[in-house]
Amino acid sequence: MKKITKELIAQFYRMLSPCRLCPRECGVDRLNGETGNCNAGLKPKVSSYHQHFGEEYCLVGRFGSGTIFFTHCNLHCVYCQNYDISQHGIGREITAERLAEMMIELQELGCHNINLVTPTPWVPQIVEALGIAQENNLTVPVVYNCGGYESVEILRMLEGIIDIYMPDVKYGDNEKGKKYSGVHDYWDVVKKALKEMHRQVGDLVIEDGIARKGLLIRHLVLPNGLSDTKNCLEFIANEISKDSFVNVMDQYYPAYNASRYPELNRRITPREYMSALENYPFTRNPNIFQWIILK
Ligand code: SF4
Repeated sequence: MKKITKELIAQFYRMLSPCRLCPRECGVDRLNGETGNCNAGLKPKVSSYHQHFGEEYCLVGRFGSGTIFFTHCNLHCVYCQNYDISQHGIGREITAERLAEMMIELQELGCHNINLVTPTPWVPQIVEALGIAQENNLTVPVVYNCGGYESVEILRMLEGIIDIYMPDVKYGDNEKGKKYSGVHDYWDVVKKALKEMHRQVGDLVIEDGIARKGLLIRHLVLPNGLSDTKNCLEFIANEISKDSFVNVMDQYYPAYNASRYPELNRRITPREYMSALENYPFTRNPNIFQWIILK
């Protein structure tokens, strides 16, 4: 991780007033108590932190992924599985110093990384905490685990700080993003964000079974073809890298407001999962279920 200076932290905090931390660019003055679309305030808000063994195998290893769940989100997915945290604001306000302590505690437990879940509305506070943690010998990779709706300007500022980007790619067109996540330009934004992430960190590098650096993409298959898997994978293969690591996930279940959308109100079938992939040439890693490396 590059040296996090006071000036760098100040640069990030300036992005809070007016807030342009994400492509929504709400323009509210978060330094003085205003909140925007995501509802995040000034102090970092965390719902939980722990060793997590349910993440991708290369993050979990033997001692788990050091996961910190942040409250609030800049997306409003109608099927969100963490809606109590992301939409209902469950969590506790803490200081940057406490956030840094959490990071160090997780490292001391043996976690292979610090996994920041929904970091987007909290980037300045996270960078401040990383600066403190850096002085206390934080050495494990930092994972930016986000929904993919990211500002390229902010991502550029994060260069040298984030080791592993782990964005979702939720849909392969803008319309679905508008209907199901509340943003009109999801597909346009996520494509640019993926390119910037890949430019910074490249393909995922795994050493001794543990991810060290790179881009790890998640794609949740939705029922009735709503996640546009073919479009998403074609874009990743053709415009990001044919060696991309993509976790194509089959664990969708209707949560939060999904029951209001009949087309989202069921799990996917095994046939849907396979047919989401079948038109795309890929080699399945025979050892790891769900993982594909695009070829
Ligand atoms: S981080 Fe929140 S307040 Fe800031 S631009 Fe994004 S949605 Fe708006």
